[in-house]
Amino acid sequence: MSVARQLVKKIMAGVLPRDRFLVSGQGLSASVDSENSTLKEIAITFDDGPHPEWTPDVLDALAEAGWKGTFFVIGERAAELPHLIQRIVVEGHAIGNHTYTHSDPKQTSTAKFQEEVRRTDKLLNELTGVRTVLMRPPKGHLTPGKFRELWRGGQSIVLWNVDPQDFSMSDEAAPMSWSHSYVAEHGDVILLHDRLPYAGAVVRALSGAQQEQIRSVAITNWLPGTQRTIPVPPGVTAVSR
Ligand SMILES: [Zn+2]
Repeated sequence: MSVARQLVKKIMAGVLPRDRFLVSGQGLSASVDSENSTLKEIAITFDDGPHPEWTPDVLDALAEAGWKGTFFVIGERAAELPHLIQRIVVEGHAIGNHTYTHSDPKQTSTAKFQEEVRRTDKLLNELTGVRTVLMRPPKGHLTPGKFRELWRGGQSIVLWNVDPQDFSMSDEAAPMSWSHSYVAEHGDVILLHDRLPYAGAVVRALSGAQQEQIRSVAITNWLPGTQRTIPVPPGVTAVSR
């Protein structure tokens, strides 16, 4: 990410309400109990899924750690793998919108981008009975027009402040070495991809190395109200697990 983009992100995060634009959860109340105040709360997020192999691996890794995550899913992949979307929600993780076809906001008209957001929103609601306003624009790109429309639509835009670059990992040693070098801060939002092979390995390495020091929670822990259970619209049969 360029220095200019990082600066813009930092300024926006400083002036906008956190439940509408989140880069890090620093300063938001931890649900960590006072007896265990040294435990740092982070939010691990997973983009671009679901994937038939890697999403279950990530879910297994989170379950082993007793951690929660947030999944920013692509609508067209969710339509192909509805059982994984349902598993994400049933197991207590948060779900968010990552557009229907992963269209880059910089390359897509505002009308098409908004249509993709709405279509994904509707699909996720039909599959799970959950309505989410959590939104991560593909590549973290935002143009003023898209930002305005997402804002008007009540979306909570969630970016990240820690990027382990799992897309460039090529063997099992990489997640391990990253997890040992990572120094957690309360409120860190970590970017991983469950479309790729190493997200589950990063979760396992992190929980193995730092289980006593950190805990991953769903973004909804910090931003309550961004995900609600609402009745599925009439005429739509909710898909059971
Ligand atoms: Zn993406």
